[in-house]
Amino acid sequence: MAKKKSSRKIIIQSPKGMRDILAGDRSWWDKITKVFSELKDIYNFDLIETPVLEYAKLFETAMNKETDLISKEMYTFKTKGGDFLVLRPEGTVTTARAYIENNLSHKGQPQRLCYFEPMFRHENTQAGRYREFHQMGFEILGGANDSIYDAEVIQVIYRLLQELKIKNIVLKINSIGCRNCRPNYERRLKAYYSKYERELCADCKKRLETNPLRLLDCKNESCQPFKKNAPNILDKLCSSCSSHFKSVLEYLEELGIEYTLDSQLVRGLDYYDRTVFEIFSGGEGAIALAGGGRYDYLAEKIGGKPTPAVGGAIGVERIVDAMKAQEIILEPKEIKKVFFIHIGEVAKKKSLKIIEELRKKKIAVAEDLGRESLKSQLKLANKKGIHLVLILGQKEVYEESIIIRNLKTSIQESIPLSKLTDSVKKYF
Ligand code: AMP
Repeated sequence: MAKKKSSRKIIIQSPKGMRDILAGDRSWWDKITKVFSELKDIYNFDLIETPVLEYAKLFETAMNKETDLISKEMYTFKTKGGDFLVLRPEGTVTTARAYIENNLSHKGQPQRLCYFEPMFRHENTQAGRYREFHQMGFEILGGANDSIYDAEVIQVIYRLLQELKIKNIVLKINSIGCRNCRPNYERRLKAYYSKYERELCADCKKRLETNPLRLLDCKNESCQPFKKNAPNILDKLCSSCSSHFKSVLEYLEELGIEYTLDSQLVRGLDYYDRTVFEIFSGGEGAIALAGGGRYDYLAEKIGGKPTPAVGGAIGVERIVDAMKAQEIILEPKEIKKVFFIHIGEVAKKKSLKIIEELRKKKIAVAEDLGRESLKSQLKLANKKGIHLVLILGQKEVYEESIIIRNLKTSIQESIPLSKLTDSVKKYF
């Protein structure tokens, strides 16, 4: 009997909201990585790497189950061993977990940690909102809950955006109070919104019961009119939160970092207390490039000791998109590379060894030894923007020499093979 053909075709497509980063985008990513790497040292943050998988329970304990991240966005799966794991959705909880697990509270306090890692959230995809994206995060954990650390986190993020020449940076900042003063505010907010309960969108009706602060974050058109007269959290802070916030703002003023007070900024991740902030580029309707805040209760909530902490993260894809949209020009990278060309079988045989000698001396060599014609090899060198070519033919093999040619000036010379490395370095 003839075998039935399988109708299941392989889908040649990356999962929705996830993308390949190819050579064409490399210069943006390289620039961002370089600036991140320099600033983390200059600002004295230690780079950490954490597993891409974490226990689902970690995030479920850290956050309210009604937050979008927990209720809708986590990639959760059961392993063959029966554990429930998630693809890491964000870096703050992970960093707090690593801080506790590795006893970093016994090292010098505070710990200044940073990361550059992929995150995964099952979100509705749209411009700037992906399901796999990368974050550069800066977190300060332990020590005192001094407001100067809030300013320092904002400062390093702000500086990173400045270094990347992002235009029209707008910092929005708010304080959402602490365990003592926030419940009072939430009661007032609830009382205010209850009057309009019937007119609220379905999500806000739920928020009214489960997470009243998020009522202020609703993007639904029909809920906007109620925001205007909602009680202002900044009027309801306790004296300790109020003076903490005031001094964060004073530090920012001292640093010359302009800010906009936004008393309705509450953030989606609900482990924050006191300072919360978001950074945008451009006016109304722009999407956030970075966000963060203080999270003094998080470590305790996930099983550690009380640990004051503050941090923030920058979305790398959004920075790349902003840099492209703003036509930010990257200085062209100087290509310090030679292109190796062979002519004929005898030369081809010798090529790999000569190339290997150059590479051992840390000289970058491009080649395509599978191509035979001189013309097509020269064409490829041009296409790659490499102006220095080495040409090895049969005559050169017998004479133990090689031609070094500058394609820009068309000047060339024949040099002994024994002097090849030094000669190439002179051209650089
Ligand atoms: P969050 O972890 O939600 O505080 O987000 C911090 C920053 O990460 C945001 O300001 C964005 O720049 C970036 N970000 C968050 N979610 C996404 C996403 N789904 N796609 C791309 N970037 C994101």
